[in-house]
Amino acid sequence: MQSENKNLTAAILVSSISFIIVSYLVFRTSFPKLPNIFLYNLIIIFSLHELGYNRSLFFLGASIFLTILVSIAAHFYYVWNIPVFFITFLIADNEIKKHDYYSRIAEARIEEIRGNINVLEDDHARHKREAVSLEKKEERYNSLKDVVSALNSTLSMEDVARKIMDNAFNIVGKSDSGLLFLVDTVKQELHLALSRNKISPEKIKTKKGDILDDWVFKQRQAFLTEDIKKDFRFSEDKFNGYERLFRSVISCPFLMEGRKVIGILRLENSKPYNYTSEDLRLLDIICDIGAVSFQNAALYKETLALAIRDGLTGLFLRRYFLDRLKEELSRSLRNNSSCSFLMIDIDNFKNYNDEYGHTAGDMVLKAISKVLLNFADPGIVCRYGGEEFSILLPDASKKDAIRIADNIRKAVKKEDIELRRVKTHITVSIGVAAFPEDAKIQDELIMKADECLYKAKREGKDRVIIS
Ligand code: GH3
Ligand code: MG
Ligand code: MG
Repeated sequence: MQSENKNLTAAILVSSISFIIVSYLVFRTSFPKLPNIFLYNLIIIFSLHELGYNRSLFFLGASIFLTILVSIAAHFYYVWNIPVFFITFLIADNEIKKHDYYSRIAEARIEEIRGNINVLEDDHARHKREAVSLEKKEERYNSLKDVVSALNSTLSMEDVARKIMDNAFNIVGKSDSGLLFLVDTVKQELHLALSRNKISPEKIKTKKGDILDDWVFKQRQAFLTEDIKKDFRFSEDKFNGYERLFRSVISCPFLMEGRKVIGILRLENSKPYNYTSEDLRLLDIICDIGAVSFQNAALYKETLALAIRDGLTGLFLRRYFLDRLKEELSRSLRNNSSCSFLMIDIDNFKNYNDEYGHTAGDMVLKAISKVLLNFADPGIVCRYGGEEFSILLPDASKKDAIRIADNIRKAVKKEDIELRRVKTHITVSIGVAAFPEDAKIQDELIMKADECLYKAKREGKDRVIIS
């Protein structure tokens, strides 16, 4: 608008000056009377345009006044100019008002369009942000498939824990440190199974978790705190000197069958307002997948343990025991150390079975197994067959083995065994052989101990015979 006005002013000035010059040159008059009407009209239009309605009235008046003066001098020759000035004034005023009106409408339209452009630009930016965030979300949820396949490929508790932590760090991200607790089912308390700390590992002081972990454990719920310093549920004194540089935390339980907490995964960051509820949801899903993997790993571990143990006594089975024996003998050879082997058989066991029945016989086997486990520790105890047991005593000299064997014999003899409400006592015979003193290979060692056992039987039972 401003530049338009300037252009118009310049045009009026240029045309006025040109008009005066042309009139002077064409009419050769010292005072161009004829063009006065045009010049005055131009001045009226110009003042109306530039100075506004009220001020231009002065120029209209001046033009009329001058015309009257000139007319008086020229015998009223120019009086007819006066209505022309009025007409010019009114037409110009009308045109200017019309022009202003359309200008204002155009300006308003332009403003409206500008506003629409701004709204559209905002919308576009928002959609773009939403598209990026959706893409990111899709990427995160897609990577959950990888978590499943990564976890499916392992059955060890340690590997499962490590993979869960790796994936939580990669998928949720944004974390300085991570803690994975598993529940000790006997003590019903948490113990730290794995930790990852980008800041400094020594900051993790507690192995049993802090008040936040207790909360998740007891409430069985996922937990998010945007700023621990502002969380009224956990005042600072409740951390009891547990110095950790975190402000925001997300934590989720691993739930077995949706009820029982078997562990907790917790991610932390030193900055407040680091995690969103979306992050917590993602961690929750990772924990759901992880809980299944932990259960599978635990089941596998249990199955393995069952596969190598005898169902009645809980002692190792012969096949596993022979593998361990082989390993221990190789280790002894490597370390130039000795180990001892005990073969044990219950005396007159058939009689107990015959007198009290098979079930009572089983109770005897269980009772004796307990005694063996007590006295052979840290040896490896095995149910070698029927009512025969064997014990491997790693790093035990022949002298140690004789002492242990005799303690076992005495303890078994002393044990009160109640069969059908009758207190009875049992004895065992034991053969002892040492490696590499008595035998150079595994079979020879077993054979030597067996020979001693049968010698003990022949010599009257309830005794220890050494190779
Ligand atoms: P000895 O003093 O010479 O060893 O005499 P014994 O009667 O103990 O004879 P032997 O060692 O040959 O007896 C083996 C018996 O152990 C035979 C079998 O009935 C019994 N037995 C083997 N396994 C089991 C079992 O799992 N439960 C029960 N109740 N008895 C078993
Ligand atoms: Mg026997
Ligand atoms: Mg026997």
